[in-house]
Amino acid sequence: MRDFLKDLNKEQREAVKWVNGPVLILAGPGSGKTRVLTYKIAYLLSLGVKPWEILALTFTNKAANEMKERAIQLVGDIAKNVTIGTFHSVFAKILRQEAEKLGYTKSFTIYDQDDSLSLIRNVIKELNFSEDNVNPSLAQAKISNIKNALITPEVFLTLAENQFDEKIAQIYKAYQQSLFQRNAMDFDDLLIKSVELFETHPDVLEKYQTKFKYILVDEYQDTNRVQYVLLKMLSARHRNLCVIGDDAQSIYSWRGAEIRNILDFKNDFPECKIFKLEQNYRSTKKILRAADSVIKNNTEQILKNLWTENSEGDPIVVLECKDDKDEAEKVVHFIKEEIRKNKYNLRDFVILYRTNAQSRLFEDELRREGFPYTIVGSVAFYKRKEVKDLLAYLKVIVNPKDDESLLRIVNFPNRGIGDITIERIRAFANAKGLSLFEAMCKLYAIPGLTERARRGVYNFCILIQKYIDLKDKISAGELARALVDDIGLIRYYKQEGTPEAQQRIENIEEFLSAITEFSNENPEDGTLEKFLEEVSLVSDIDTWENKRDAVTLMTLHSVKGLEFPVVFITGLEEGLFPIVSSFYNIKELEEERRLFYVGMTRAMKKLYLSYAKRRMKAGNMFEQRRSRFLDEIPIELVIQHTSKDDRRARIYETSRVRSQALNLSVGLLVEHEIFGIGIVREISGYGDNTRVLVDFENFGRKLLLLKYANLKVI
Ligand code: ATP
Ligand code: MG
Repeated sequence: MRDFLKDLNKEQREAVKWVNGPVLILAGPGSGKTRVLTYKIAYLLSLGVKPWEILALTFTNKAANEMKERAIQLVGDIAKNVTIGTFHSVFAKILRQEAEKLGYTKSFTIYDQDDSLSLIRNVIKELNFSEDNVNPSLAQAKISNIKNALITPEVFLTLAENQFDEKIAQIYKAYQQSLFQRNAMDFDDLLIKSVELFETHPDVLEKYQTKFKYILVDEYQDTNRVQYVLLKMLSARHRNLCVIGDDAQSIYSWRGAEIRNILDFKNDFPECKIFKLEQNYRSTKKILRAADSVIKNNTEQILKNLWTENSEGDPIVVLECKDDKDEAEKVVHFIKEEIRKNKYNLRDFVILYRTNAQSRLFEDELRREGFPYTIVGSVAFYKRKEVKDLLAYLKVIVNPKDDESLLRIVNFPNRGIGDITIERIRAFANAKGLSLFEAMCKLYAIPGLTERARRGVYNFCILIQKYIDLKDKISAGELARALVDDIGLIRYYKQEGTPEAQQRIENIEEFLSAITEFSNENPEDGTLEKFLEEVSLVSDIDTWENKRDAVTLMTLHSVKGLEFPVVFITGLEEGLFPIVSSFYNIKELEEERRLFYVGMTRAMKKLYLSYAKRRMKAGNMFEQRRSRFLDEIPIELVIQHTSKDDRRARIYETSRVRSQALNLSVGLLVEHEIFGIGIVREISGYGDNTRVLVDFENFGRKLLLLKYANLKVI
């Protein structure tokens, strides 16, 4: 084995070699944190630690795979058996092993966001709360928050301060019961049920505490409360817990991540050894200085002194654009220029934005230029209708109690099982305490079904039963192929004959290839259950491939941990980035700034920042103001790009907006006769139709027709 520790600097090496007891590695972007974690795995193995004694937790499955591959390069195949994965995938596996102890079966289904939302809708209906009163998505978000704070429905009911909370408590309770009846867990359950398992079964906890002698966690700043509790439980015996992170890159507090976890580590593990890594290997001096000046505006942070031996580098380019379309054109223009001048490949570029909706114009423009691109987080493959339909069939075959999946496909393709039939089956199932499938199998006892419906139900039961019987006899790939054939899915779409249907056929074929490949790669244990588990845990970024030479497009949240030679951060406008909701809340604003910091520090050689002065939103043009973040970068690090055309356009624009909008611009304070004082948020439309969106101090948000509003600027 070669001396791989030579690849590290002194501080990194020390951090790698310190293997016993709690360790906190706190360091800025590009300082080699992820590299240290990977090398630590290799180092532990080289000391003779067994691969199954190591547990490494990462933020995405993609990062986990890369880490494993790198460790294999360093110490060989022994690294294959290290447990590396996301919290969700690791604990899903543990739960699968121990499911029966919690009253589930090993083949429990994992519900994604959509499945969980449709279940919440059903629950709201069954409780007779109308959807107008309780918005299902809101209920879903709220329940998820409560669950992640480890609060049970019963406790939440005692905490409820108003009727709405009481309703949420009831929905939460019924939702958990329904999940259990369906032998299903949602994403949150994968962690919460693990805590429950460990709390109620000390012997099981002990088993895993003994097994995992070394626990390593990357991107620790984005762990939430439940993840923290799990780490504390699992590491209690050996206390060999090494957490790695950067408080300045914490960007998931809206999902419940607690920056406190990193700040409090010292209190929880007073004997912990702290390492700081200060040399940045990723970016140029200018990029690093710019990022540093931005993050300094946050009040809450641990000071870090980041330096680099890399070159000074090019200035940061700020692109001022006429409108969002012009922004897309400029970005693509500069990609072309960089390729021409500096010989970059397309894969060296990433275009980042705050919201997914911004991607469309860049896509159009890249297509026009004939540049291939990959977009992370568009409708993910496994979320497409035809793929979800097929998955629903497979889920029912694995877990016939899964009513949500069953409802999705019971009448697709059409079997004459309409809504009325389903209601009758449901009523029967509820009365007898059965799942829908169990009820359907007792078809002759269900009152009021028509002959046609009866035939449909009968055929459906026979079909599902056939595949339940086949499940353990043939491979997952073979089963899926036979099923597609049996239900005539491809024939169904062929008859439709539209280009969209053709696309669906291609996706079904792609899906069949994926599942066949899975079966071939896992000849021993490639069960259907395992395939479904992998599929339900893939995230957007996991399906991204950087092997193809293509420009990458993604949101700022997805780009964490990655690096690119040339980075474009777009839409740097007040209200978009920072996003509008952060205007009123300093904590949120600081999180937006950290997100900007994460974006900037992805750049190795060159950073472009762009904003549009006007942007189309929902069919209306809005005047935009450049983001305050741009003003936080020292002017000497920046060159501003304003094309001649732009200058002319700007004079024209300004005079036009002036004359029409009475000197109004976004951000100004105004006074209205009735509503009093407010702040202008958006100006849209032209001439007589000019409208102003104002947030009034006492009357909230109002959209006013400028002509009649009689606003005074104050
Ligand atoms: P982030 O905070 O963005 O996740 P990080 O601290 O995890 O960053 P890495 O991704 O591990 O940083 O490293 C950044 C880059 O620097 C990588 O390309 C890595 O290979 C390189 N690098 C790190 N340490 C060294 C080193 N000692 N010698 C050469 N290159 C290094
Ligand atoms: Mg990293």
